[in-house]
Amino acid sequence: MKDLHDLSRYPLRLEGPDRPMVSFRNVTKRYGDLVVLDGLNLDVAEGEMVSIIGPSGSGKTTVLRMLMLERIQGGVIYVDGAPLSHMERGGKLVPANSRHLRAGREQIGMCFQHFNLFPHMTALGNCMEGPVQVLGLSKQAARERAEDLLEMVGMIDKRDEHPARLSGGQQQRVAIARALAMRPKVLLLDEVTSALDPEVIGEVTEVIRKLVQKYRLTIMMVTHQMGFAADISDRVCFFYDGRIEEEGAPADLFSNPQKERTQQFLSAVK
Ligand code: ADP
Repeated sequence: MKDLHDLSRYPLRLEGPDRPMVSFRNVTKRYGDLVVLDGLNLDVAEGEMVSIIGPSGSGKTTVLRMLMLERIQGGVIYVDGAPLSHMERGGKLVPANSRHLRAGREQIGMCFQHFNLFPHMTALGNCMEGPVQVLGLSKQAARERAEDLLEMVGMIDKRDEHPARLSGGQQQRVAIARALAMRPKVLLLDEVTSALDPEVIGEVTEVIRKLVQKYRLTIMMVTHQMGFAADISDRVCFFYDGRIEEEGAPADLFSNPQKERTQQFLSAVK
């Protein structure tokens, strides 16, 4: 069995202009006896849009959650060259403490299926809260940043509304603006269109398309919308049983899948 705890074989930092923005190196995640990620290796380049697809329970959401606060049981995760799951102590990597995890978490923006906006705050308030409370921006600076982002997602006219008075699509657009207000290095999108009525899905996918095409944000997206993933991604990873079973450019993966499990999955969801 490979030694999952031997940290000496992982670099302290990833250097060089071509280093990935996100790197999972041999990452293992277990819940009790259940192995959810099994030695996952995944690099995401700066400005790359990677979609994660696969059957329910294959570990897609877990990949994103590992970039948030959770501890892993093997391997190392790097963000922008620096270890996130670990930290450097005396020239060695050691598991991250909570403070290091929290600091790392500030580099990552995440949007969920259920928007999780603060219900007692307006759209503008939702977008100002993190920058003021966590980043220490002045109210004025946070307001300007929030207004620019609400404009970008087409929600500036609704800045003074509370979430309860917004449609699902509108709430999700505010949630995206709120995540971006923290100027994350990486944006994680977890099934952001799954809870939406079909007629408002387009307004959210259009915002994501803009982030990809105009802003070249680094994005990792879990989705069941194969057409959208095919259309927008630089790369698609098909997950099966906590591993990447197959990955490639969407044109290859969707039209010419090589592995039987990928073929089965794609024909079942079509
Ligand atoms: P997917 O997003 O592909 O549907 P998940 O990443 O949510 O899959 O889950 C992968 C596996 O991990 C599932 O078997 C799920 O039940 C399990 N799992 C996820 N979170 C937890 C948890 N907090 N405790 C125990 N098991 C979990």
